[in-house]
Amino acid sequence: MAAQIIDGKMIAAAVRAEVAQDAEAFAAQFDGAVPGLATILIGDDPASAVYVKGKQKACGEVGMQGFNHPLAADTPRAQVVELIERLNADPTVSGILCQLPVPEHLDGVELTGLIDPRKDVDGLTAISAGLLALGREGLRPCTPSGCMHLLAHAGAQLEGAEAVVIGRSNLFGKPMAQLLLGANATVTMCHSRTRDLAGVCRRADVLVAAVGRARMVKRDWVKPGAVVIDVGVNRGADGLVGDVDFHAVKEVAAAITPVPGGVGPMTIAFLLRNTLQAARMQRSAVGAMV
Ligand code: NAP
Repeated sequence: MAAQIIDGKMIAAAVRAEVAQDAEAFAAQFDGAVPGLATILIGDDPASAVYVKGKQKACGEVGMQGFNHPLAADTPRAQVVELIERLNADPTVSGILCQLPVPEHLDGVELTGLIDPRKDVDGLTAISAGLLALGREGLRPCTPSGCMHLLAHAGAQLEGAEAVVIGRSNLFGKPMAQLLLGANATVTMCHSRTRDLAGVCRRADVLVAAVGRARMVKRDWVKPGAVVIDVGVNRGADGLVGDVDFHAVKEVAAAITPVPGGVGPMTIAFLLRNTLQAARMQRSAVGAMV
């Protein structure tokens, strides 16, 4: 039987609508305060410019403020640091993100680490990663959070399930594995040195691929009835494709995300949700804990 196709576009639209409502409730509760997202874009990488523009536009659509800070590619480190410190101190800014990658003379991890953890809407600072590892409340990375939401929507049973994540990046693979573990799945993380990757994947009730290799996951890597989440974004001669051989795998999986239109739209939806969560944390006792 062909798989359920998980419609990330539709699910993300529902999350955004919910965030818009919650932003209204936030304003009503806090004297008209509007959550604000500051983005820092350093240099002129066209893909990064498109992502930042999308994030800023999305803020307006859910009734939040967006503040974009474009900086020249050769901006000295001290100037970026000064901007982050200013945004950390600005009460109209609820969330800050520094678009990665940054130009070579800068260190993206170091700059991200300077963001106040209560405003870390990408969930990438050491504090946010630590809170996730400890299972404490905090801001979670957007794409893995979006994937968890898609899994819930697809009705995936995570408790006691075998979950396999291919990819161990700090941005996606590691936090994804932590979130699955937090949901009581039995988690295996795979990477470029994994022996018998296909065999490990075949054990998975939930298979998440985040590698960046077009159509790497084949039909015979997937256990019949598995739920498959394809995070990969690969641009080739035939357009945008994921890490999963979608047309073949959908014949055996119970549910699968397409590329495009699966995981992609969830990232911005959860960035908006995180911005609202950050705004709330900054006004509550939880914020003091971080
Ligand atoms: P990354 O930092 O390049 O990590 C890739 C991971 O894949 C690494 O852990 C690497 O292993 C592993 N890998 C590489 N070749 C492999 C192989 N042959 N077999 C098994 N594992 C292999 O990438 P990322 O940032 O996590 O992103 C992964 C993909 O997801 C990319 O296509 C990216 O564009 C996409 N992505 C999409 C979104 C979104 O839709 N919003 C968000 C984030 C990422 P080693 O650690 O051993 O090198």
